[in-house]
Amino acid sequence: MQLTNRSKQVSNKQMTFAERIYLPAIATGLGITIKHFFQKKVTIQYPEVKQFLGPVFRGRHVLKRDEQGRERCTACGLCAVACPAEAISMVAAEREKGEEKLYREEKYAAVYEINMLRCIFCGLCEEACPKQAIYLRHDEFVPVFTERDQVVWGKDLLAENMNNRYLRKAWTKEEAHEQDLKGVEAEPRTQL
Ligand code: SF4
Ligand code: SF4
Repeated sequence: MQLTNRSKQVSNKQMTFAERIYLPAIATGLGITIKHFFQKKVTIQYPEVKQFLGPVFRGRHVLKRDEQGRERCTACGLCAVACPAEAISMVAAEREKGEEKLYREEKYAAVYEINMLRCIFCGLCEEACPKQAIYLRHDEFVPVFTERDQVVWGKDLLAENMNNRYLRKAWTKEEAHEQDLKGVEAEPRTQL
């Protein structure tokens, strides 16, 4: 029984001389390569050039700050409850006197972590958040990681911060390398 009309009968006929020396096939292949050489390129020079992925694309997470630069997250835990992959964990802390400029609410996330290996980028954390604190960027992927200790992202990588290497637009290769050498540790009370 024929399932599709695209099946082909296999032929065992002897190859001709031209087929045996492969030169016509190589010339045909080269012709295709040369033709594509002059056509418009479909590849882009990522990460220097970024492609618009669409307004519904869900990329890397960001913990937002308010217009005064204070962290919006109040460590309510709703995002962690909504997360189907159980990728989010946090430790709440009470805001102390003098920290009003750092944290908008009286409670904040002293530790906020997302396990990027677990995350399936469903965006449910963003929808569950009552403070518009966490959202998934439309224009950036999660960068590739090669070590297991790079998998869990803390506030140092998530919080909107000009010193955050992944949120700064114009970070040179040398600067990024310098940050790698220093190591990046979460210091939630001194991030601003
Ligand atoms: S995007 Fe989905 S899987 Fe990833 S942390 Fe948010 S809720 Fe969890
Ligand atoms: S990100 Fe939003 S939902 Fe998650 S703990 Fe913070 S305030 Fe709550």
